[in-house]
Amino acid sequence: MTILYPGSFDPVTLGHIDIAVRGAKIATRLIVAVLDNTNKKPLFSAKERISFLQDALGHISNVEIDSFSGLLVEYAKQKNVTAILRGVRSPGDVENEARYAVFNRLLSELNNIETIFITASPSLSFISSSIVREVAFHIYSSNLNDTTLHNMVTPSVQHALSKVYQ
Ligand code: ADP
Repeated sequence: MTILYPGSFDPVTLGHIDIAVRGAKIATRLIVAVLDNTNKKPLFSAKERISFLQDALGHISNVEIDSFSGLLVEYAKQKNVTAILRGVRSPGDVENEARYAVFNRLLSELNNIETIFITASPSLSFISSSIVREVAFHIYSSNLNDTTLHNMVTPSVQHALSKVYQ
């Protein structure tokens, strides 16, 4: 079964990586796809976000890293995906994700693409890309000790964040 794990991954966090690793155990093939949305202004380019994902997940043989733009279900159809994977951290996530899942189901009715959820590992459920960006901004612009970020992102992402905000 091919599973698609889509996201902005701006940047990828240890929470995302945990979901991808666990997803790869269920899937025969897991495609981790960066949403390259021209309407949003991301901190990192799609190319950079792909490279961070390669660094973190490239060693897993059934994981592929890719990017897409436009409608998620169109990309999913093109890749012959059986299910879309999303991670949920909180009841708020479940509510939002359920809405997207119904919408995607509506759009993919003939192809029957399902959405499946994996719950966040408790120790990582506080992490989001936006919190990472916020913490990095304060740490690097004020020259504070950056040990907090160790628990949130990979060394290559931490390095890139230090370059952006220093
Ligand atoms: P979006 O795709 O909504 O822009 P992200 O790129 O941040 O959001 O996240 C992609 C997916 O990973 C979403 O399903 C999100 O809920 C999930 N996710 C984000 N952070 C974590 C975490 N710490 N633990 C588990 N899942 C997470």
